[in-house]
Amino acid sequence: MEHSLQHRERVGVQDFVLLEDYRSEAAFIDNLKKRFHENIIYTYIGNVLISVNPYKNLPIYTEEKTKLYFKKAFFEAPPHVFAIADNAYRSLVYEHREQCILISGESGSGKTEASKKVLEYIAARTNHLRNVENVKDKLLQSNPLLEAFGNAKTHRNDNSSRFGKYMDIQFNYEGGPEGGHILNYLLEKSRVVSQMHGERNFHIFYQLLASSDQSLMTHLKLQGRPEAYKYTSDSTSHMSQRANDQEQFRVVQEAMKVIEIGESEQREIFEIVASVLHLGNVKFVQNDKGYAEILSHDANSGNAADLLKVNATALREALTNRTIEARGDVVSTPLDVEQAQYARDALAKAIYDKHFSWLVSRLNSSLAPIEKDAKSSVIGILDIYGFEIFPKNSFEQFCINFCNEKLQQLFIQLTLRQEQEEYLREGIEWEPVEYFNNIIICDLIEARHKGIISILDDECLRPGDATDASFLDKLNQHLDGHQHYKSHRKSDTKTQKLMGRDEFCLVHYAGEVTYNVNTFLEKNNDLLFRDIQSLMASSDNTIVGCCFKDYNLRSKKRPETAITQFKNSLNDLIKILSSKEPSYIRCIKPNDFKAPMQFDDKLVSHQVKYLGLMENLRVRRAGFAYRRTYEAFLERYKCLSAETWPNYRGAARDGVQRLVEALQYEKEEYRMGNTKIFVRFPKTLFATEDAFQIK
Ligand code: ADP
Ligand code: MG
Repeated sequence: MEHSLQHRERVGVQDFVLLEDYRSEAAFIDNLKKRFHENIIYTYIGNVLISVNPYKNLPIYTEEKTKLYFKKAFFEAPPHVFAIADNAYRSLVYEHREQCILISGESGSGKTEASKKVLEYIAARTNHLRNVENVKDKLLQSNPLLEAFGNAKTHRNDNSSRFGKYMDIQFNYEGGPEGGHILNYLLEKSRVVSQMHGERNFHIFYQLLASSDQSLMTHLKLQGRPEAYKYTSDSTSHMSQRANDQEQFRVVQEAMKVIEIGESEQREIFEIVASVLHLGNVKFVQNDKGYAEILSHDANSGNAADLLKVNATALREALTNRTIEARGDVVSTPLDVEQAQYARDALAKAIYDKHFSWLVSRLNSSLAPIEKDAKSSVIGILDIYGFEIFPKNSFEQFCINFCNEKLQQLFIQLTLRQEQEEYLREGIEWEPVEYFNNIIICDLIEARHKGIISILDDECLRPGDATDASFLDKLNQHLDGHQHYKSHRKSDTKTQKLMGRDEFCLVHYAGEVTYNVNTFLEKNNDLLFRDIQSLMASSDNTIVGCCFKDYNLRSKKRPETAITQFKNSLNDLIKILSSKEPSYIRCIKPNDFKAPMQFDDKLVSHQVKYLGLMENLRVRRAGFAYRRTYEAFLERYKCLSAETWPNYRGAARDGVQRLVEALQYEKEEYRMGNTKIFVRFPKTLFATEDAFQIK
């Protein structure tokens, strides 16, 4: 037996609301660190779970541990991702409230692992139900498949998801999983054509190249070495990973079988992956007129055309010319070498990106419930990129941080709504709490009139001389003076030193981020030349044809810009999430070395800020921070008064009333709800907790 004080000294508190000095970030981090060094990676802030990546396998996901969380309330077992999953599952099945689990954190913090644990837990939790094995297999196998095509090795994470993912698990009236549906967001397609030094392209390229299936390799005209292909040649250390890639390729093929992607479809998928590798090797030479040309003996463009099942000459033409239709006249202009390279890379990115989305929809048709239950309901899991602040931030960070602002806004709305509903249910008077509402930043970005997105789209759609610089001018013109916008001109002396003339700064809820406008227009326009599009639409590879066919249908209309597409899909997502009851998992990366037992205070401190955890805790503490059902409260503390020990014979509510009187709780410190006691200052609870010993 260890005295509770000593126990707390060693492992900290399991819920931050119990932290005496809850306003101190140092105390917050200290609590995380203590627990981390005891291999305790989970801690709550009320019903929000904080998880610190251990970078080693802990024995906390065993069958035995899993069962510990079956049908348990939060406080009945140590904080765990399983507790979040069980809570969501029970609310869904017994109370018929649709659920979503929102996982956030920076790259490498453990989001995807957490989402997999949720899925695995639900699979185990529903083991007693029959006829769901097949669906569960498919749900579980969707992960390795998506990871092969959507994940890559980066400096921050060897298996980094390069897309955002929202997955619904659908349940029948018995609570058995009957299907699933996945939405994907913003695949980082620039990775297809170039990677930072020491990083890799998407896993599937290396896996395919490591395949031992010789007839497949011959069919795909691949020679087996990543170094031989421009798009995979940058990455170092492939040799050491080759064995693993080979093994993973088998895993991918196995997953495809489970998902019921047949032989011929598999072949088409690999043809597309291989065609991208060949495309990357297409070389252009400058002809005597100064234009780009592909040498007739260049095998790469021929291989790419064969695999994409398009006419080889047509592909060569499309890569070196650009057809423009102006006032009914069709004019073809030859491209210079640089433009042709741009067109080639744009094609490679478009093929890969569209084929990834195709794969997701293919997964969805396989995961769709065979017989959809009229009363079916869902648990959604969101695994999406966290807030990003790099030394240099571009269009991608702008999209990602906008997404995080929207999710923060949702967090505020849902948490408030949840609180108000609980107070109402429990018959307690609502007490509003002061908090920072980031809606002002969301508006700055997406307001229809003169929001950053509308200004960017205006510049992209404006015929004539629009440039990144003119976009920045417009931003400064319209937004200077906004509380959350800083231009180079008006920035205070401190930030001015750090800001370049081609940058603007946003004061996000999580901190200031300076964005460089370079390539904003190009990335937002996301142009693919029309010749290439219509050629791809004519492909005899059914997947490629399907991916590009929309284009011809609305060829005259301008496609939506990248940011507008993203904004719309984000707003759809927010609508889906708003109708559900949320649980939150906030993931933290303890160090930059992917190493166990290393806890970098400074790095963690940044993340605590970006995740808004101190504010989260402050708001939680401002109300009634601690609440328990009368039964649970009585069970835990009954030994503290002779009146309730060993058993209280009357109603639990009366027992608790006696108990708090015996413990001399002040009237202002607590409220008695319909089913729960609400305690305002956990100070009282410290005294209560300290009054007896913890096992
Ligand atoms: P994210 O999705 O946030 O970028 P991941 O979930 O891919 O991060 O985690 C990165 C790596 O960290 C994993 O590949 C794994 O090695 C390790 N990791 C993450 N969570 C855990 C965990 N709960 N237990 C053990 N290792 C973990
Ligand atoms: Mg991930």
